[in-house]
Amino acid sequence: MTDHGHHDVRTLVVGGGIGGLATALAIARTGRPVHLVEQAPAFTEVGAGLQLGANATRVMDRLGVLGAVEAVAVHPERAVMFDARNGEKLTGLTLGSLYRQRYGFPYLVMHRSDLLQILLDACLAEPLITLENNRTVIEVAPTADDVLLKCADGTTYRADVVLGADGLHSRLRRLFIDDEPVSSGYVAYRGTMPIEDATTQVDVNDIVLWVGPRLHLMQYPVRAGALYNQVAVFYSKTFAAGVPDSDRATPDELDEAYAATVDPVRISAASISRTRHWPLFDRDPLEHFAQGRVALLGDAAHPMLQVLGQGACQALEDAVCLAGVLDEHVDNPVKALTAYEQLRLPRATTCQRLARPWADMWHLADPVGLALRDRAFRSRADDDYSDVDWLYADPTGQPATPTTSPETTP
Ligand code: FAD
Repeated sequence: MTDHGHHDVRTLVVGGGIGGLATALAIARTGRPVHLVEQAPAFTEVGAGLQLGANATRVMDRLGVLGAVEAVAVHPERAVMFDARNGEKLTGLTLGSLYRQRYGFPYLVMHRSDLLQILLDACLAEPLITLENNRTVIEVAPTADDVLLKCADGTTYRADVVLGADGLHSRLRRLFIDDEPVSSGYVAYRGTMPIEDATTQVDVNDIVLWVGPRLHLMQYPVRAGALYNQVAVFYSKTFAAGVPDSDRATPDELDEAYAATVDPVRISAASISRTRHWPLFDRDPLEHFAQGRVALLGDAAHPMLQVLGQGACQALEDAVCLAGVLDEHVDNPVKALTAYEQLRLPRATTCQRLARPWADMWHLADPVGLALRDRAFRSRADDDYSDVDWLYADPTGQPATPTTSPETTP
């Protein structure tokens, strides 16, 4: 479907990021046709690494892509948090076989463009999915019986169900609320380098997090261990003050922010590409993200600060949930989307809300708060999962037995 004009489709997904492609795939896997429109001329991901907890790898298994994902991802043995001011280990989480045994699925880190490509390939191989690029949705008009959409190039659609996966700056979100992204005041410099060029003095197979007053540095390998991903985050006075894009959060500001950190942190932060930075935003939680025949998912519905490593994971959870309810209430999309909201809103909102204080805790600067935090961290064991069970355990309570992915079937 590449011509302009008018098209009738049953289920239309707007946005072809990780959330949109996963949703199209999940719906098609239930035997339902789905059409996806993406504004960009090609399906691409900007940025570098992605952490994927068992709640996300469980979804990948259901979508039949876990085998392909595991082939290009890295299975870290542990995540370790260090104090960026003195190099002291604060706490850790065992992520190897013990984690997999507990949750049934692995904790992975990977390049986000590898994940997008795997989802795209799976969508292209699925006859029930049609994909279109260069379609920017500019108008959405829901009625009781259908939803009408218009794109910038004049193409129009009539759909039974519309799923908005159009990201942080979602157009479809305006149907629900007139709000704006909320600035955290923090920015990220991020990028990858060949693993042999990594200057870190810690184990390159670990997920390493350095926390310090108003900053953190995240490091882990991606692309089957060939690349090292680094994200240097800091509070930027110029970004927080609303200084225009080109003059804010400069590399000099990055260096200044990291000046008082230990050598491995300062040197690593200095080694990250300086050509671009990303301001970090979230939004306040919505009271509803499904209404009539339209629902939002992923960052369009619940954009969150990245500190829990859950934005994409939650979008993947949305995807299988949407496919499930649309299949269950096949003749009643309104009922299906109401069920979707009831199932997904509380959990996604919890992640969204928790990410803010979690970020504050990483970035603590006051001595009393720091002393209390560090004491609490030091007292827990790396294999104590009690704080993260809610995030990674199977919410259905089913035994954690992976099914076999098509790719891994001999
Ligand atoms: P997007 O990826 O934003 O996709 C939206 C798509 O919609 C885009 O392709 C866009 O072009 C298209 N679009 C937009 N408007 C229109 C329109 N009008 N018409 C048609 N198409 C449109 N998450 C994790 O789970 N783990 C992590 O470790 C992690 N780390 C992160 C680190 C950083 C520094 C950041 C910033 C985020 C991180 N996240 C992480 C969050 C994660 O990247 C996002 O939550 C996730 O990519 C959101 O996917 P999405 O498909 O909902 O939105």
